Parts: sequence; structure tokens; C-alpha cells
Amino acid sequence: MCIFCKIIAGEIPSAKVYEDEYVLAILDISQVTYGHTLVLPKKHCTDILDVDQETMMHIASILPNLSKKIVSNTKALGCNILSNQGEVAGQTVNHLHFHIIPRYGSDDSIVINFNESKKQDLDEVLKTIKG
Ligand code: 5GP
Ligand code: ZN
Repeated sequence: MCIFCKIIAGEIPSAKVYEDEYVLAILDISQVTYGHTLVLPKKHCTDILDVDQETMMHIASILPNLSKKIVSNTKALGCNILSNQGEVAGQTVNHLHFHIIPRYGSDDSIVINFNESKKQDLDEVLKTIKG
């Protein structure tokens, strides 16, 4: 059983932010910023490449209100919602989860850079992606 499944089963304690039949939200043990929360489906799946549509719909349906509540109650100015898919993308726990990371300012302990790599031919990229 993966570590998040153990948390969902109550075998490992967690600070629960939100819970319903399908979804559990807990404080991340390592708070990148104050209020950093993880949203997980109760049904195990590895990542977004593995999740079924119904499970994903349940996650999507709670993300906006939960984010609003966290941002408003922490008096944050905004938040990042991140989900890493696969080790190459930084995923360390192989149970799908979404980070809600409240943002307070530019000196928050999180750096996200969107740097352009080499120029791409967008028509060629489009063909590849559409398959
Ligand atoms: P990832 O790197 O896979 O996107 O994120 C995994 C997250 O899970 C990390 O931010 C890490 O701090 C958090 N985490 C790992 N183990 C535990 C745990 O036992 N309890 C809680 N609450 N968070 C955990
Ligand atoms: Zn799991």
C-alpha cells in the first residue's frame, strides 16, 4: 500500500483539511508555504496518466472552493496548483495528488520558471501532439 493510501486508511496520521467520499485533502508534511495542502483521490491511481474520468471529476469539483477557502483564510494573495506526473517531473509519491500552495509574495520558498527552450516549429509540434 502506498503512503497516501495508508493516510487515507488512517494507518498514518494526517492533518485533514477536507474529506468526502472520494477525496481527501491534507496539510503537506513539508509546508512550502503556510497552508500548503495536498488533494488526493481516495481511490489509488498513480498519476493523471492513470486516473479515471470520474475520479478526476471529483477532484476537479472540489479544487476551486477548497483553494478559495485556503487563500481567503490564510490571507494569501493567490496560490499555485501543481501536480507532478512521474519522477522526471518531480513526483515523489506515486499516488495522484494536487498541491495547493498559497502565495504571499515573491520571496515565498517556491520558484517556478517558464524558460523557453529552443525555438519550435509550432505546426510540427501540433502534428506530433495530435498524433
Ligand atoms: P510530489 O513530490 O510527489 O509532488 O509531492 C509529494 C508531497 O508529499 C511532498 O510535498 C511531501 O512533503 C508530501 N509528503 C510525503 N510524505 C508525506 C506524509 O507522510 N504526510 C504528508 N502529510 N505529506 C507527505
Ligand atoms: Zn495510493
